[in-house]
Amino acid sequence: MSQRKKQRTSRKCSEKSDMFDGLPDDLVLYILSKLASSAASPPDFINILLTCKRLNNLAVHPLVLSKVGSKVFAVKARNWCDSVHRLLKQCVKAGNVEACYTLGMILFYCLQNRGSGASLMAKAAIKSHAPALYSLAVIQFNGSGGSKKDKDLRAGVALCARAAFLGHVDALRELGHCLQDGYGVCQHVAQGRRLLIQANARELVASLNALVQRKAQQQHHRHLNYQYYNLKTGSSCPLLSDFGCNVPAPEVHPVNSFLREWFESEGAELAQGLRLCSHEGCGRPETRAHEFRRCSVCGTVNYCSRSCQALDWKLRHKMECVPMERWLEEVGNGNGNGNGNGNGIGDGGVGEMEEVAEAEELAI
Ligand SMILES: [Zn+2]
Ligand SMILES: [Zn+2]
Repeated sequence: MSQRKKQRTSRKCSEKSDMFDGLPDDLVLYILSKLASSAASPPDFINILLTCKRLNNLAVHPLVLSKVGSKVFAVKARNWCDSVHRLLKQCVKAGNVEACYTLGMILFYCLQNRGSGASLMAKAAIKSHAPALYSLAVIQFNGSGGSKKDKDLRAGVALCARAAFLGHVDALRELGHCLQDGYGVCQHVAQGRRLLIQANARELVASLNALVQRKAQQQHHRHLNYQYYNLKTGSSCPLLSDFGCNVPAPEVHPVNSFLREWFESEGAELAQGLRLCSHEGCGRPETRAHEFRRCSVCGTVNYCSRSCQALDWKLRHKMECVPMERWLEEVGNGNGNGNGNGNGIGDGGVGEMEEVAEAEELAI
C-alpha cells in the first residue's frame, strides 16, 4: 500500500521536473536575461545561480551576463570578495557596459589599479555610457592618478559635453559652470547659465518622477507596515525647499555608494592627507594631496568637481557653511583646520563659491 503511494509521489516529482527540463534553453535564457536586467538587488540574481545546476549553468551564459543591470552590482563594500570580482569580470567579458564602468571605478579608486580602471571606463565611454564619460571627465579635470601637470581641462570639457549631450545631469551642471567661468573652454556666460537651467529642469523632473513612484509605494506599504511608511516620509531632501516642496534625494549610482562605504570602512582607510569628496552621493577620493578644491568660505569641505560643489551647496552645505574668520575667532587661532591652508589649488576661491551659489539659485 505505502509502496504504491511512494511510486505515485515519485512519478509526480519526475513529471514536474520533466516539465522544467522540457523547456528549451533558448526560452530559459530569454527569461533569465529579462530577470538579470530588471533585478532590483544582488540577491535577485545570485539566488538564480543557487537554485539548481541547470539554472546555474544558464545564468552565466554570455547572453545573460551581458544584460545584468547596475542594481545587481550594488554590493556592499564590506561584502566585496573574489567571487563578486569574478562575476564582474565575467560580465565585462560578455560585453556588459555597466560592469565595465562599475569594475573600472572600483579598480581605479578602491584597488588603485589606475591603468586597468581607466581603460575599463574608456571601454564603457566608447559605448556612450554617460556616467563613464563623466567620471573620465572628472579624472581629466583633476589629473587624478597623476600629478597636477596631468590635468587636461580641454579633454575634461570634451568628455563632459558628450555626457551632457546624453542627458547626464552632473555633466550638464559641470559644463554649465565651465562655460560660465571659462574653465577649459572659451567663456560664454549666457550659454553656461542655459545649461544650468537645463540641469535643474532635468533634476526637477527626475525628483518629481521619484516622488510619484514613492507615493505609490507608500500607499501600498501603508497597509502592510505603518513604521515603514513613517521612515520613508522622513527621508526627503531640501532640493526644492525654496519652493516649499520636499522631494526625494537624487538617486545615487550604486558604485558611488560603494566607493563611500569602502573608504569609510575601517579596513580601507585613505592614505594620510587624502580626503573624500564632501558631496554625500559622490564617494570619490583624492589620489594625491590637495587634489580637490575646497570651499574657501569655511575651508572645511572639498569637492572633486564644480558639479558636486553646487549640488552639495543646495542639499546641505548652504545651511552649514560658516565664514572662516568667524570660525577662527571662535576657535581662538588658525591651527584648528590646517588641511586646506596653502594648498596652491587657488581655483576654489571665496568669490567662486559665492558665484556658484548665486548661479544655482538664479538658474532654478
Ligand atoms: Zn564629488
Ligand atoms: Zn563652506
